[in-house]
Amino acid sequence: MAIVENIQFIEKEIAGKDITLVAVSKTKPVEMLMEAYNAGFKRFGENYVQELVGKYEEMPKDIEWHFIGHLQSNKVKYIAPFVSLIHSVDSFKLLQEINKQGAKNNRVIDCLLQIYIAEEDTKSGMTEEECLEILKPEVLGQLSNIKIAGLMGMTTLTDDEVQIRKEFKKLKDFYNSIISENSSLQILSMGMSGDYTIAIEEGSTMIRVGSKIFGERIYQK
Ligand SMILES: *Cc1c(COP(=O)(O)O)cnc(C)c1O
Repeated sequence: MAIVENIQFIEKEIAGKDITLVAVSKTKPVEMLMEAYNAGFKRFGENYVQELVGKYEEMPKDIEWHFIGHLQSNKVKYIAPFVSLIHSVDSFKLLQEINKQGAKNNRVIDCLLQIYIAEEDTKSGMTEEECLEILKPEVLGQLSNIKIAGLMGMTTLTDDEVQIRKEFKKLKDFYNSIISENSSLQILSMGMSGDYTIAIEEGSTMIRVGSKIFGERIYQK
């Protein structure tokens, strides 16, 4: 598996564009992540708490770990000491728990609010209305151990490019409509192996790419 070549290929595609690549390494063994690490790539995304903690403990400590999967409130405490960015905040309750664990660890944890953009109803995320509610100064002001660094979205699982583009565009429009009043927002996390090219065209600033770097996953998680 040409992991390093795959990363370099994508890095070349996004060069000069102010886009950050997160290598999604879920289900992949530490040896594969270390191939990327040894070539100088240190930013990985995981979607299971237990797996993330195991890899964190085993691997060098200068890695930027991103949590991208559905996060249960009772598991926040395990990743709060070290996680760099949580992409998948889908409720106010979860955000409150992240804030609480941030305080316990004496740090501010960067978070993205995951917005529901897909037309199918199997993907998680919050509505634009819920997001606006959280961004109100009187709500956010109470949470001093989290920073809302941006938004994240996942499209409907489909080959229909028109549909995918429409969903990305919708998220970008919403993002644009709120950034002027929320200066902490800098990240728009959208795009995976199958759709990151479209996501970039529609204004993504962070892409989460797994199988195009590490190969197909045997068990789809
Ligand atoms: C698995 C996953 C990815 C990466 O998926 P690929 O299609 O393998 O690139 C990106 N984002 C999230 C939230 C994921 O769960």
